[in-house]
Amino acid sequence: MRLGAGPPVRRADASAQDDVRRANLSAVLRLLHFNGAATRSDIVASTGFNRSTVGSLTSELVKLGLVRERPGVVGGKGRPSNLVEPVHTGAHVLAFDVTPSSVGAARVGLGGYMLQVRRRLHSSSSHDVPAVVELIATLAGEMQARAAAGSVCLGIVVSVMGSVRQPDGLVRRSPPLGWYDVPLAELLSEATGGRYPIAVGNDGDLGAVAEYLRGAARGSQDVLYVRGEVGVGGGVVVDGELLKGAGGYAGEVGHIVVKPGGRVCSCGARGCWEAEVGDGAIIRAVGRDPRESDIEDVLSDVAIGNRRSIAGVRKTGEWVGLGLASLVNIFNPRIVVLGGSIGALYPTMEPTLAASYARALGPIREQAMLVRSELGSDAQLVGAAEVAFADVLDDPAGTLGARSAQADEHAARGDESPVRRLHQAG
Ligand SMILES: [Zn+2]
Repeated sequence: MRLGAGPPVRRADASAQDDVRRANLSAVLRLLHFNGAATRSDIVASTGFNRSTVGSLTSELVKLGLVRERPGVVGGKGRPSNLVEPVHTGAHVLAFDVTPSSVGAARVGLGGYMLQVRRRLHSSSSHDVPAVVELIATLAGEMQARAAAGSVCLGIVVSVMGSVRQPDGLVRRSPPLGWYDVPLAELLSEATGGRYPIAVGNDGDLGAVAEYLRGAARGSQDVLYVRGEVGVGGGVVVDGELLKGAGGYAGEVGHIVVKPGGRVCSCGARGCWEAEVGDGAIIRAVGRDPRESDIEDVLSDVAIGNRRSIAGVRKTGEWVGLGLASLVNIFNPRIVVLGGSIGALYPTMEPTLAASYARALGPIREQAMLVRSELGSDAQLVGAAEVAFADVLDDPAGTLGARSAQADEHAARGDESPVRRLHQAG
């Protein structure tokens, strides 16, 4: 599931015993991170480890500052079982979501808690690269300054609508942003003085990760996530792993061809799915001009029962269903999560969407449940945060040690953030 290259995890001794210890610590921390507080008895039941092992693992996580224990209450017979909970301020990540209109930002603590959330509109309409890089660096500095003393920052992860090369975070193409071959991870590393591990991910992939780990697809191992926006993004989870492909570009569902000879797409081809079901197509289908209206206008028209708008949205629903039929035939997901404008308009599209979706093979269609996104516009921030948490969940002690050492080096050198220097100079 890792989307980016973090700092190498230091492993002094790779003995089998250490591997087992690391895997066990990982299992306990993962349980608490995703499910919240649990009693020691709950942890014993969930992990299958014995009581003394759980006690020792919990104590080590307490020493690392990642969990805390409270005395438990006596429930039924037996001794009271201590309650163990993740410490939100033990470790945190800085997550960002770049869209054509704004930059969303969140400081997310262990356990997935959104400790601080910001959204800033782009200062210039062209969302040019240097301005966005500076905005992200500034927000990162501001959020980092508010972090609790001692909380270890695990890194920065940025969601971008477009094809992002892995693992180096080069944005190959993002038509909605007008970005081509932008080395975003590298630029952000420079702008933040190299003090954080940085990863850049595709919005569809991060949405899929978020819905899989914390949203509508929790508990399903095979997930298709589709987000309608200016373009149409998507991500696929296969057997619990994000499908990446050879270059990290897999899941570009918006560019499957559904209508040969159809409308010209942002990618230059004709009849791509996103050209037929993206926000522009929906706005045109309801009889509005995409230069003057946005998807919010369509949503309010539909909400007040405007018949022309409802008919237009239903017409688009046919194309949505057609694309979904092809995709479920290929991936055989247990759950299909619809996000963005497609998720928002799904109840209106449902009848026509279902009719064309019926072309999917019967056995596959019967297994796939179509649902709306639970996380909505937060999905990309939530997914970005989980990418940054992945290393510490895999190896709590090693990752925390490596990150703390890196942060201490910066502190010892008295490094100042370039952003702060910039502001002082101004
Ligand atoms: Zn296309």
